[in-house]
Amino acid sequence: PYKGMLADEVLQKRKKFLGPSLFYYYQKPLNIVEGKMQYLYDEAGKRYLDAFAGIVTVSCGHCHPDVVNAVVEQTNLLQHTTTIYLHHAIVEFAEALASKMPGNLKVVYFVNSGTEANELAMLMARLYSGNLGMIALRNAYHGGSAGTIGLTALHTWKYPIPQGEINHVMNPDPYRGVFGSDAASYAREVQDHISYGSSGNVAGFIAETFQGVGGAVELAPGYLKLVYDIVRKAGGVCIADEVQSGFGRTGSHYWGFETQGVIPDIVTMAKGIGNGLPLGAVVTTPEIASVMSQKIQFNTFGGNPVCSAGGLAVLNVLDMEKRQSHCADVGSHLIGRLRTLQQKHDIIGDVRGRGLMLGVELVTDRKEKTPAKAETTVLFEKLKDLGVLVGKGGLHGNVFRIKPPMCFTKDDADFVVDALDYAISGL
Ligand code: PMP
Repeated sequence: PYKGMLADEVLQKRKKFLGPSLFYYYQKPLNIVEGKMQYLYDEAGKRYLDAFAGIVTVSCGHCHPDVVNAVVEQTNLLQHTTTIYLHHAIVEFAEALASKMPGNLKVVYFVNSGTEANELAMLMARLYSGNLGMIALRNAYHGGSAGTIGLTALHTWKYPIPQGEINHVMNPDPYRGVFGSDAASYAREVQDHISYGSSGNVAGFIAETFQGVGGAVELAPGYLKLVYDIVRKAGGVCIADEVQSGFGRTGSHYWGFETQGVIPDIVTMAKGIGNGLPLGAVVTTPEIASVMSQKIQFNTFGGNPVCSAGGLAVLNVLDMEKRQSHCADVGSHLIGRLRTLQQKHDIIGDVRGRGLMLGVELVTDRKEKTPAKAETTVLFEKLKDLGVLVGKGGLHGNVFRIKPPMCFTKDDADFVVDALDYAISGL
């Protein structure tokens, strides 16, 4: 049994010693003290089924033994030197990661987070294109640093500082967007912005193919293909933010952008790449990477031996355990059951996503699509009491995000749906 600090004291110290901008889930926040694969345990030993994976970060499973072993072994041998010396772990990891990329995406930069990855991608786009203007989607989340905050397009995360040379085009959201699933109309708006709202040239375009923080929104089919063409004609590079959607989670493909049949010029990743280790990466073409050589580009912890050994273990585990096809299999079962549940409960306005990257949007009125904010909060607490942890997303906080560790089983999926059914029935 756990003998450490209890929730009340942790919370008290958090309030005293950590910044006031932190937020937590649940009226009485959980004190999670242990994790094993798809399960989390609180201080009292209560087990929770984790359907959110620490914001889509735990890919293989909490404390997956292969990843833990790789980290422990490397930690005992050598923790850190930086890239001023040679080390095999970073090149092995880079080679393995590059082998997962399509096209000529072969040059890897390692960083420590998704924010850092997107900062670097934006820098490259600007240097390579010689332009400044970036285009991002409304409802996007790309980071919280002074630069990436400009890319992020949810007002709740944007501090009022200069947001840089960044414009946000309409979100091709099939459920809430004014053009529904009509990708061509949304793409025309991008061209419209470039023609009328810019010099005619842009630095680049960035998008998550499956918006995470924005509430598991899958972009209208065909959108990226049309927009990549438009952006490239305007001199810009196309960046795919795979921080949440990569590594086979969407089931049908290894990378989210592949679901739209495109090859980006730069891909950014983090979260699932490390199964919990602070790790991020940018992968691009040799041609784009070459613009960085005009100065020194250095990152003290980027690609350190411990994270590289852990990251390589993650890639191997996902392959060996065939997690991509598993996500397809369990995901289609889960989405099928959620759609059936939608027929039973009017409050479920939309069920969307692919693989284990799903969203359930709750509304009080299906026609008006009025966000069921208060009801979502009640259900969220109830699910937790029933032992199920899901995520919350969307600007109105009315979307349940179901993005569990990729070892999640069909039984786990059934448990989530049954718990949701039970909770909604009791509203
Ligand atoms: N991009 C996406 C799509 C994300 O979801 C996040 C984090 N929620 C980030 C970038 C930023 O990653 P980090 O918090 O590791 O900086």
